[in-house]
Amino acid sequence: MDIKEIMKNAGIVGAGGAGFPSFMKLAEGADTLVVNGAECEPLLYTDYVLLDTELDTVLSGISAVINYINIPRALMCVKKHTAERLGWSDGMCLADRIFVKELPNVYPMGDEISMIYQATGRVVRAGNLPITSGVIVYNVETLYNIAKALDGHPLTMKWFTIGGNVKEPIVVCTPIGTRLSDVFKKYGITVPAGHTVLDGGPSMGRVINPNSAIVTKTTKGILILPDTAPAIESKRIDAAKAAARAETACCQCTRCTDLCPRHLLGYPLEPHKMVRTAAQAVAPMPIMVLTATLCCGCGICETLACCQGISPRAVIANYKDMLGKNRMKYVANVDAKVSAEREYRMVSSHKWASVLGVEKYDRVAKFVGVDTDYQRFEILMSQHIGAPSVAKVSVGDTVRAGDVIAEAGAGLSLPQHASADGRVSYVDQKKIIIDRG
Ligand code: SF4
Ligand code: SF4
Repeated sequence: MDIKEIMKNAGIVGAGGAGFPSFMKLAEGADTLVVNGAECEPLLYTDYVLLDTELDTVLSGISAVINYINIPRALMCVKKHTAERLGWSDGMCLADRIFVKELPNVYPMGDEISMIYQATGRVVRAGNLPITSGVIVYNVETLYNIAKALDGHPLTMKWFTIGGNVKEPIVVCTPIGTRLSDVFKKYGITVPAGHTVLDGGPSMGRVINPNSAIVTKTTKGILILPDTAPAIESKRIDAAKAAARAETACCQCTRCTDLCPRHLLGYPLEPHKMVRTAAQAVAPMPIMVLTATLCCGCGICETLACCQGISPRAVIANYKDMLGKNRMKYVANVDAKVSAEREYRMVSSHKWASVLGVEKYDRVAKFVGVDTDYQRFEILMSQHIGAPSVAKVSVGDTVRAGDVIAEAGAGLSLPQHASADGRVSYVDQKKIIIDRG
């Protein structure tokens, strides 16, 4: 069977992002496969552990992809500290046509556009897909999942870090659909009073309720952080308050724009102007508002740049939301010119962790193994971008791990698989619950 079909049938999505179906990226015309092992966010060690413990499988996934569409080279992009920990050096050959590319320890190096520039020297035109610059990007774990799928195993397991204010940060591999509370119980993890739990990194993660959250195909890190950390405070900013504050406090110093990583790559994104429109100092110009879709949400403008407590990120997120609902985005038809200042204005990972108030929790996570010993699994029908999957099992059915329990919906969609042997105890349009016998 065609590798694209295998990826689709295995239900593979980008392992740490918004859940984009991975088979969609496999297009002709690429001369470079960029392997994202940047682990951009502080405190996350999932990709590092995979590279340390499952390198052969990851390399096998990379080989399969570059052979499928004759891509001449793959660049394994990892930060310098990760390369050192793995005993790698820049340019080192890991396998046929697969080379190490060391990235500097700066944030947000895992942002696809920043990483492509750092690895290849190419700037993807604003609003265009990486393939237009001859590049395909896959996360380390996605390539691991592709190798497993080619070996007959659909996507049923997830690797993720549990870190922050815990006794010892760990990386676990559990069945998709496991309740987070069960994982916490198993590893003796508690959430202290005055702490918040994030799904994702401290910069871009979202607040979750650990009592109801479950492990999904995009779970990459679970962090327990004090409410007083700037990383958590920034999650509580709402767009209306951000606009009101912008109206009264923005002095138009332009520091948010000066430090914006997308602006430094030459993209026409200027957060200080967005703030000015939000403050109604100038009427929003349609073209300027459209550039909101170029924001990667890194938060540098909000947490590091602004000394007035304004959140350009929240203002821009509001615009992005509105544009998304109207299916509008900025697309450039000319090349961007990288700022000569970029090299001096990049934010070191160390400084970024410190600004977020999470530096003291940064310890390399320990891999505690693959663990399937749970009783209940809640498989969501929407773990990907596109139409929800459609259940094909009924209450009372017996299923085996790897069975297709929901088929792809109409249009862009993916199937879902049972992540353990058991009996179906609940089915609706949003989820299927499987209990072990
Ligand atoms: S850094 Fe703050 S004060 Fe300066 S322009 Fe940006 S939002 Fe305004
Ligand atoms: S969050 Fe702010 S700094 Fe980051 S890309 Fe968006 S506008 Fe630029």
